[in-house]
Amino acid sequence: MAFSPASRVQDYLVFGEFGDVNPSITDSSTYTFLSPERMEELFEHEIEGCFLYSRHFNPTNKYLASALERMEDGESAQVMASGMGAISTTLMTLCGAGDEIVCGRSIYGGTYALLKNLLPRFGVNTRFVDLCNHDAVRAAMTPRTRVLYCESLSNPLLEVADLPALAAIAHAQGAQLVVDNTFTPMILSPLRHGADVVVHSLTKFVNGTSDCVAGCVVASRDFISRLNDINAGPSMLLGPVLDSTRAASILKNLHSLHIRLRQHGANALYLARRLEELGHAVHYPGLTSHPHHQLLTQLMNPGYGWGGMLTLDAGDLAAANRLMTLMQRDKVGYLAVSLGYFKTLFNTPGHSTSSEIPPAEREAAGLREGLIRFSIGLDEDIAQTTERIENCLSEAEVRGNL
Ligand SMILES: *Cc1c(COP(=O)(O)O)cnc(C)c1O
Repeated sequence: MAFSPASRVQDYLVFGEFGDVNPSITDSSTYTFLSPERMEELFEHEIEGCFLYSRHFNPTNKYLASALERMEDGESAQVMASGMGAISTTLMTLCGAGDEIVCGRSIYGGTYALLKNLLPRFGVNTRFVDLCNHDAVRAAMTPRTRVLYCESLSNPLLEVADLPALAAIAHAQGAQLVVDNTFTPMILSPLRHGADVVVHSLTKFVNGTSDCVAGCVVASRDFISRLNDINAGPSMLLGPVLDSTRAASILKNLHSLHIRLRQHGANALYLARRLEELGHAVHYPGLTSHPHHQLLTQLMNPGYGWGGMLTLDAGDLAAANRLMTLMQRDKVGYLAVSLGYFKTLFNTPGHSTSSEIPPAEREAAGLREGLIRFSIGLDEDIAQTTERIENCLSEAEVRGNL
């Protein structure tokens, strides 16, 4: 039987205080103890069902963490106030001064800036490599490398990480494989392919309504204990705690994620096929022409589609800007950063979400000026949306090569 993240989430049952079908929302920052001894014990080690202070853990955040832990088939999880909170605290748990990170060169701009600009101030340095070139990855690893970092489906170029191969390379060097699975929740289960830690920006597909910012880390019980440790854990001490009312609403949205993914994926595949037919430079992992289509098909959990992200190269920035302005006018969606929303969002990563990466490095990684990244929405009538896009393409004079 194939692994089913959606069934794992569905089978996670928690009730409210009065048998409410949704778990009660924690409205407290602190928790009472029936004896001083019990409180002292909790400072030494975690006690199941016992809470101390909401920055450490609270029941609502624990429910969401448990559901995500089941979705990723991990041992334990922690939720955070943002995806960046999840990424930064994970890397600070694994690395200290003198340690090194090897990271894919096509990654989220905020992650790039963290690795390139902030972590070096604490003595943690990163080499950026082409993750498709396994010899280059191996060559970048040194005895000081603690982390091999990648995105399951890279931002914005949609390269698929060969997770089993990257895990083998990391482990051979005594490093851990950390995977950002934001673009492919449920579709990929990195821990089942050898990853040690999975991080998400829940802000995107998992929540799906673009109404809050949140993140999570899923890993071994030991890792999450280190992350949350009262005396030395980066999550506990830097404090990116998720508000419990948000945790409750994200948990409710998580229960419809599999259905949304199917619609995002079916719509994206329809549009990608049509654009390809018209000879446009479209990139979508569901197309057999995508260089990593086979790899993703091999690794993915069946039944959720190939995701909602696709890219279109409009040729140059001016053409991309014309096209995006027209698409917003014609109600294709919004000119906005972020992704995983029920409406289509589009932007040019070179001038927004990846602008942290210097132009020369963007060019080397194949991130071209006219590249538009789409997060395809849940449109009821994708044929109509596709027609609107085709009209915008001709009005913007973006031509396929046919
Ligand atoms: C948005 C995003 C992040 C950062 O998450 P926030 O919730 O905005 O902090 C990290 N990785 C990827 C792939 C993202 O798309």
